[in-house]
Amino acid sequence: MHELSIMGSILNIVLEHAEKHGARKVKAVNLMIGDLSDIIPEWAQMYFDMLTKETIADGAKLEIERVPLTVECRDCGEVRTYTDKNWSFTCQKCQSSNLELKSGREMTVTSIEIE
Ligand SMILES: [Zn+2]
Repeated sequence: MHELSIMGSILNIVLEHAEKHGARKVKAVNLMIGDLSDIIPEWAQMYFDMLTKETIADGAKLEIERVPLTVECRDCGEVRTYTDKNWSFTCQKCQSSNLELKSGREMTVTSIEIE
């Protein structure tokens, strides 16, 4: 039930934000999710629907933007972005494993649409 707890904390952020702006209804939530996170978008929406019942975010649509994994080699500076899931944690150029994760672990609410 990993997704459920993550969606719970996302919902808290959304409701807090909505309240601050005097929203009557949350229509959509835009999320950025890194490819490294194991969130499955369809499940995320399902759990979100479960959690939002009886709240002003009931029926809100999740818009999920995936962020690809990007790593930078600390030894030679090579930057690589993985657009598929063929991840490698060794530098393709110098074979070093001294890599820095630049993106791919995101789990952020970028914006919400309210009424
Ligand atoms: Zn390298």
